[in-house]
Amino acid sequence: MSNAETFPEIREAVRRLCAGFPGEYWREKDRERAYPGEFVRALTESGFLSVLIPEVYGGSGLGLGAAIAVLEEVHRSGCNGGASHAQMYTMGTLLKHGSEAQKQAYLPKIASGELRLQAFGVTEPGAGTDTTRITTFARRDGDHYVVRGQKIWISRAEHSDLMVLLCRTTTREEAARPSDGMSVLLVDMREAVGNGLTIRPIRTMLNHATTELFFDDLRVPVENLIGTEGQGFRYILDGMNAERILIAAECIGDARFFIDRASAYAREREVFGRPIGQNQGVQFPIARAHIQTSAADLMVRHAADLFDEGQPCGTEANMAKMLASEASWFAADTCVQVHGGFGFAEEYDIERKFRETRLYQVAPISTNLILSHVGNHVLGLPKSF
Ligand SMILES: Cc1cc2nc3c(=O)[nH]c(=O)nc-3n(C[C@H](O)[C@H](O)[C@H](O)COP(=O)(O)OP(=O)(O)OC[C@H]3O[C@@H](n4cnc5c(N)ncnc54)[C@H](O)[C@@H]3O)c2cc1C
Repeated sequence: MSNAETFPEIREAVRRLCAGFPGEYWREKDRERAYPGEFVRALTESGFLSVLIPEVYGGSGLGLGAAIAVLEEVHRSGCNGGASHAQMYTMGTLLKHGSEAQKQAYLPKIASGELRLQAFGVTEPGAGTDTTRITTFARRDGDHYVVRGQKIWISRAEHSDLMVLLCRTTTREEAARPSDGMSVLLVDMREAVGNGLTIRPIRTMLNHATTELFFDDLRVPVENLIGTEGQGFRYILDGMNAERILIAAECIGDARFFIDRASAYAREREVFGRPIGQNQGVQFPIARAHIQTSAADLMVRHAADLFDEGQPCGTEANMAKMLASEASWFAADTCVQVHGGFGFAEEYDIERKFRETRLYQVAPISTNLILSHVGNHVLGLPKSF
C-alpha cells in the first residue's frame, strides 16, 4: 500500500489547512525567529493534534497511523510541525503512567487545546545523551518538591502551559542502578515562570523556539508527580518511541517536499537546449532520493503499526528515525543541487527546509546512538559506553 492511501481524508484536510500557510508565512517567522502561533492554533482547532488522545478524554483516539499522516502532510506541504508536534505525544507519559485523577484533570483540556503541553524537559548541559547523568534534583519538602538545576534545548517552553520534567529524586550515586532514582513531574509553567523557573531562548540555525531552563528552588506540588517516584526514566523511554516515529514521519514529509520540488524544477528548467532532468546526472539522484524515502517510509509505518498494536517497537522506532532523517537529508541536498543558484534563494523555501531537516539527525536522538543501540541490543556486539 502506498502511503498516500493511508488516512486519505485526513491527508486532504491537512493539505487544505496548510495551503493557508504558504512559504511567505514561514519565511517571515523564520526571519524573525517567531513562533508560528496561528498555524499551531489552526492545527489544534482542527483536532489534528489530539489524534492520539483516547475518545474518552476528548481526543479522536486514532493512533500513530493517523498522527504520522498528519505530520507527513504538514512537512510535505512546506510547513513545519516542530512548533506543535509535542502536543501530540508528550501527553503519552501522562496517559500511560498518570493517575486517573490526573488524566481527568488534564487530558480533556489538552485535547481541546485549552492547555498546551508542548514542553518536554530531559536534556541537560552536563549530561548530554547520557540521561542517567542528569543532576536537576527535586527535593521533597512537605507536600511539595523543590527543584534545582538546569536544562538545555527545551523547545516550546515559552509557548506551553505545562511541561513534563525529568529530574532526579535520588542521586545517581545513591540509586541502586544509574537509571533508578529519576522521577517525572508535571510542571505548570504559568505558575513556575518567575517563581523559581527562568527561561532563556537559544537562537539556532532554524526557527525552533528552543530554550535553556534554570530551576532555582521551584516548588512543584507532590500531586504533580507522574507514576511512582524513582521510576521516571522508564516512563520517559516509553514516550520516546512515539516521538521518534512521529519525527521520522516529518522527515518523510520533508523528503517528499524536496523530491516534488526537485522533480518539478528538473522538468521545467532548460539549459543547453533541454530540460536539466533529461541529464541522468540530475535525474538519478532524485530517483535515488525517492527510493530511499519509499524504503524509510515502510519502516516508519511498520514501527507505527507495532506501536499501535502495543508491541515493543524501540528498535523499529530508532531505525525508522535514522533511515527517514538520512533520506530527508539526501533529498534536501539533491534538491539544492538541482536548483543550482536558486537552491540558495530564500524565496524558494528550499534553503529553509534544508536547515530544518538537518536537525533530525541530531535530535531527538543522534544517529550514533541509534547505531549503538542496534549494534548492542540487536546484534549482541559489546557496548561501547
Ligand atoms: C533544536 C533542538 C531542539 C531540542 N529539543 C529538545 C527538547 O524539547 N527536550 C529535550 O529534552 N531535548 C531537546 N533537544 C536535545 C536533543 O535531544 C539532544 O541535542 C540530542 O539528543 C543530542 O544530545 P547532545 O546535544 O547532548 O549531544 P551529546 O550527547 O553531547 O553528543 C554529541 C555528539 O557525540 C556523539 N556521541 C556521544 N556519545 C557517543 C558514543 N558513546 N558513541 C558514539 N557517539 C557518541 C553523539 O551522537 C553526538 O553526535 C533538542 C536539541 C536541539 C538541537
